[in-house]
Amino acid sequence: MSDPSGPRPPRRVAMVTVHTSPLAQPGTGDAGGMNVYVLEVARQLARLGTEVDLFTRTTSAAQPEVVEVEPGVVVRHVAAGPYEGLSKEELPGQLCAFAAGMMRVAAHAPPGHYDLVHSHYWLSGQVGWLAADRWGVPLVHTMHTMARVKNVHLADGDEPEPRGREIGEAQVVEAADRLVANTEREAAELVDLYGADPARVAVAEPGVDLVTFAPGSQAAARAALGVPADAVLLLFVGRIQPLKGPDVLVRAAAELVRRRPDLRDRLVVGVLGGASGSGVRTPMGLDVLAERLGIADLVRFVPPVDRPTLADWYRAADVVAVPSHSESFGLVAVEAMACGTPVVAANVGGLPTAVGPGGLLVDGHDTADWATALGRVALGPETRATLSRRAAEHAQGFGWARTAGRLLEVYREALARPKDVSIDDAERIADVPRAVIP
Ligand code: UDP
Repeated sequence: MSDPSGPRPPRRVAMVTVHTSPLAQPGTGDAGGMNVYVLEVARQLARLGTEVDLFTRTTSAAQPEVVEVEPGVVVRHVAAGPYEGLSKEELPGQLCAFAAGMMRVAAHAPPGHYDLVHSHYWLSGQVGWLAADRWGVPLVHTMHTMARVKNVHLADGDEPEPRGREIGEAQVVEAADRLVANTEREAAELVDLYGADPARVAVAEPGVDLVTFAPGSQAAARAALGVPADAVLLLFVGRIQPLKGPDVLVRAAAELVRRRPDLRDRLVVGVLGGASGSGVRTPMGLDVLAERLGIADLVRFVPPVDRPTLADWYRAADVVAVPSHSESFGLVAVEAMACGTPVVAANVGGLPTAVGPGGLLVDGHDTADWATALGRVALGPETRATLSRRAAEHAQGFGWARTAGRLLEVYREALARPKDVSIDDAERIADVPRAVIP
């Protein structure tokens, strides 16, 4: 805990989220948990008295330069490269343009306009590093995902993250005054895999909107969504990409039907989300897989939906599967549990923290193991009722206000004890001996 008599919290934070807009629909392309995280946290910070300017790349000519989301939360679109058609992999080439755009915005503001920079994902960390240096303010950085972690948990069909990203991440780790990890496990990974100074790593668990995602009637949700009242609904929610393992659910569902042929008439496998990155071909791939396994008629693909409808899907489900190969936290798990729906999740990354007692964890991605775990929850009314109660209780601990409160503590620490480099660096640069060309 920080000393309450310590420095005041920042008045205004520049949040950098280069590659994906907090205004984008999550669940497709590159928009996912990070978008939700950044927007929710910004809203809560503003309510606690810290204004947030969110800098993101312009991705359409129709986007206004400035969008006020609510008092104290402003999205600033920065032109850097062609609006459309740039993949995330191509964005390292636009970071200079983006940083220049940010500098131009800040040049119109009075000196000291921003007290602190908080960057999200390594691309933004590179920009935040420069902005913080230029403005003489602390840099707080959240990785969200890390190449060195992802690369040891690759799914079939996933490309390894490039070395340039690893190097870029290591530079941000070095430059940041504070690194925010989603869980203790991620904090340890920052230290062990990137050599972060443990004193500069803080944990702030992400959250969930406990108003939108709340328990409710399964029957009413099913009626609203056109899911039969007696269905056994297994649900996947997320960006469709190999890393998220939607195929694990499809295979396990086929195995359940093999074990219990009577389920054929009742089983529904919901796959909710849009294609993302290297998973662009995957919805078709999942189709083909389901066809091959003889359950194509049981799989229902649903494009990304708004959040109240998403909450209905969670309520309608008997169990939500989170079979990711790597997951820094897993907002989907907490959202499902907040709706009182138990989760069966892979025992990776932040998922044990997110799931807690509100579901089952499965080691690995073996079809038989997943079928057994999903069957235990979906077909065992007592197990489901117990887990459902625990899930709703556990999720109560994850409001976004708690995340924002913790971030404010981290900001105050960073303002109180910024990484002391500037004077030393300036002296070192001044002292560099000059070579003379003979
Ligand atoms: N999401 C959504 N609509 C969809 C699919 C996903 O709004 O169709 C949201 C979901 O509610 C969650 C986020 O996208 O808030 C995904 O976050 P998570 O941490 O599970 O995965 P990430 O995208 O960060 O890898």
